Amino acid sequence: MPGLEDLYREIILDHYKSPRNRGSLEPPAVRTEGHNPLCGDEIEVYLAVTDGIISDIKIGGQGCSISQSSASMMSAAVKGKPIADVRALISRFKHMMSIDEGGPEPDTSAPLGDLEALQGVVKFPVRIKCAVLSWNTLAEALETATA
Ligand code: ZN
Repeated sequence: MPGLEDLYREIILDHYKSPRNRGSLEPPAVRTEGHNPLCGDEIEVYLAVTDGIISDIKIGGQGCSISQSSASMMSAAVKGKPIADVRALISRFKHMMSIDEGGPEPDTSAPLGDLEALQGVVKFPVRIKCAVLSWNTLAEALETATA
């Protein structure tokens, strides 16, 4: 019987090979980019916010399987969600990656779905930057979109 690690590896590979929400959006959608020089990962986030909801998101860039699958999962998890929920998800994801930003403990009661596949990354500190890159880039896009 395949173990949890195999299942997680399969989910990560699936998002890497068939990335969700790949592409770009025209202005007035916000565009931000993030780089992880340690690994060579690049992520572009195109974000459209309508009435406080992430109405559309597209992902560009290239890099390792962790960075690209994390971006794909992130895009699927936030599309159609209210900004407040997305901000909460960003801090919850960082918390899962052992990044403490000093805020309140995130509510971890709701299931994370595919994102749980990335929790094993925390065992490899050098890859945490790969996994978090798209989330930081999304946070920056949110700041710009709601400024
Ligand atoms: Zn990487």
